[in-house]
Amino acid sequence: MRLEAVRTMPEAARVDVEAARTAVADLLTALGRDMSDPHLVDTPRRVVEAFTELLTPQPHRWTVFPNAEDYHDLVLVKDIAFHSMCEHHLLPFRGVAHVGYVPGDRLMGLSKLARGLDLFARDLQIQERLTVQLADWLMSTLQPLGAGVVLEAEHLCMSIRGVQAAGTLTRTSAFRGVLAEPGELRDRFPG
Ligand code: ZN
Repeated sequence: MRLEAVRTMPEAARVDVEAARTAVADLLTALGRDMSDPHLVDTPRRVVEAFTELLTPQPHRWTVFPNAEDYHDLVLVKDIAFHSMCEHHLLPFRGVAHVGYVPGDRLMGLSKLARGLDLFARDLQIQERLTVQLADWLMSTLQPLGAGVVLEAEHLCMSIRGVQAAGTLTRTSAFRGVLAEPGELRDRFPG
C-alpha cells in the first residue's frame, strides 16, 4: 500500500529562449566583447541552455509510505551535495545539506530528501529562503512530528569577487515541530 503525497512543487518559470539569447548577446556586446569572435558566436545559445538547466527542477513523483514500523526517532541524511544560483549575482553557491525529520504516520524514501532539495535549489535563490522552503515542504508533504534542514555553502559571489573570502562557509538552518526547540534530537544535526 502506498500513499500519494500532496504535490507542492514550485512552478518553473517559462524561458523565452529567443529573447534570452538576444539578451545574452546584448550583455556581451555591452561588456565590450566582439560577438563575431568565433568563440563567442554560439555563447548566447550555450548560456541560455545552461541557465535553463540550472533553473528548472526535474519533474518527479513524490510518494510516501505508511509508517507501519511505528518509527518515531530522527531520520537524518547528512552531507547531501547541492548547488544553487545566487539571486543577487547570478553566480553559483554550492555545499552540503543535512536533512532530517521525525516521522508521524508517513515515511519518505531517503533519496527523496535529496530530490526535494533539488526541487528548490534549481532556482534563483538566497540560501536562507532555500533552507526555509525545504523545511516547510517536508512539513506539508510528510506531515512529520518535526523537520530540520541545515545548509552549509560556499558562495562564489563572495569567494571570487567582492571580499574574495575563499573557502568561507555560510551555515543556515530551519527547524520545525518537535525540532523547533533545542534538544537532544536537534543536537544530532552536524554543525
Ligand atoms: Zn551573491
